[in-house]
Amino acid sequence: MQFIETRGNDGVKPASVSFSEAILSPSASFGGLYVPTALPALDAAFLEKHKNSHYKTLAMDFLTTFGIDIDREVIESALNRYDAFDDPQNPVPLNAIENDCCVSELYHGPTRAFKDMALQPFGYILSKLAQARGENYLIMAATSGDTGPATLETFKNQDNVKVACLYPEGGTSDVQRLQMVTEDAPNLKVIGVKGNFDDTQNTLKALLASEDFKEELERKNIKLSAANSVNFGRIIFQIIYHIHSYLEMVRCGKIAMGEKIYLVVPSGNFGNALGGYYAKKAGLPIEKILISSNVNNILTDWIEKGEYDLTGRKLVLTESPAMDILKSSNIERIMFDKFGAARTKELMEALASEGKFVLSDEERASLQEDFAASWSDDAECENEIARYVKKGYMMDPHTATCIKAYETLREKSLPTVIYSTAEWTKFSPTVAKALGHPVNGDIEALEWVSSHANVTVPPMIRGLFEKPIVHTVVVEKEKIKEEMLNFL
Ligand SMILES: *Cc1c(COP(=O)(O)O)cnc(C)c1O
Repeated sequence: MQFIETRGNDGVKPASVSFSEAILSPSASFGGLYVPTALPALDAAFLEKHKNSHYKTLAMDFLTTFGIDIDREVIESALNRYDAFDDPQNPVPLNAIENDCCVSELYHGPTRAFKDMALQPFGYILSKLAQARGENYLIMAATSGDTGPATLETFKNQDNVKVACLYPEGGTSDVQRLQMVTEDAPNLKVIGVKGNFDDTQNTLKALLASEDFKEELERKNIKLSAANSVNFGRIIFQIIYHIHSYLEMVRCGKIAMGEKIYLVVPSGNFGNALGGYYAKKAGLPIEKILISSNVNNILTDWIEKGEYDLTGRKLVLTESPAMDILKSSNIERIMFDKFGAARTKELMEALASEGKFVLSDEERASLQEDFAASWSDDAECENEIARYVKKGYMMDPHTATCIKAYETLREKSLPTVIYSTAEWTKFSPTVAKALGHPVNGDIEALEWVSSHANVTVPPMIRGLFEKPIVHTVVVEKEKIKEEMLNFL
């Protein structure tokens, strides 16, 4: 399977690359992204074959059919990382919350957010590739909360890969910060930045663009890669759980094999939703993918109005911070798939130069064949959390944005899967507030919520508060480069 570029080829980079090349060097011509030239068929025979398959068996067959250039033993070991999830028999359990609605829980991995679903196997594969080639890679991440811990966790103690993670001091929850600053391995560096997430991200961009930093990397023979969802190595693992969730719906009797369902996806950078789109395109019986957001509702405009307009928008900090995103990176792959490389390049360039683009009526109609979208504000999410706790189900604030999409966007009365992208324990102060008991700090919130709502706090969250802090560096933006050079 070869990979091509969303904005066409510049004549310098190769016109197509293998999977391993696409994941080691994920930036394509003209600032575009890599996409596969074809998808494996998820037809009736494939689904029937995996009706009772273990998650790893399904994943192995899917990846083999995809034809990625990774050794079978490496893929097998990568998938074995799912054995460390809560239930090794089923890393992604399904829970019915309504007669026609189930929640597929993607957060049962080590860092309690859905980033583990892809980053766990992806990190293993990337490290093994680097080792096999005798190359050294640096992965730099600016995080507002979930990506940082999941990236550190997957690469810790892996040879040939170093990870540097920048987080805004005071801009994450206690749990998220502790997940990073207690992660002890010689190949990891965590730096707190004085400022907000924007400052942190801008500092990272400036560093990556600076000549002396690049020269230093070259001198040390270190290449740059990326572990965010611009990397197709993450997307490929995010197709598999959509197939698994569909089969879980069949197994629990909510649908008959072949019957269509809706998916509801709480979205930011659109990697999760893109995985659903590829699954639908490959033949998984999905009626539509319903996108939910918070007040940073630019994806709703894109899908409903065909308009993507950053001008006059300011990022609003919400209680679902992993979706506080205005520049959503994976919509580019959707537009490439539907409108081709020339048009995608034109649209993305308009976004860069004018801060907006507008789709034609036909283009918008084409988007709406696969997607519909809605958004919820913080108060609405808190209400949904409280309402479902009364019904016996605990959800986090990101998952809570999905309820409105489920209730208002379905045109047919088909069964629905909502994706839960984080465990409540990562956002316990918000949950405590939703349940009418605002507290200061995660420890108090975790304790109050777990006793009040009779839910457990898993050992990896509880243990965080006793683990020694190994990364104590918090610096001004100007000092980051120095810190990084010391680390390298
Ligand atoms: C990353 C994240 C999202 C957004 O997922 P995308 O694939 O970027 O759209 C939603 N919820 C949580 C909890 C996340 O960590």
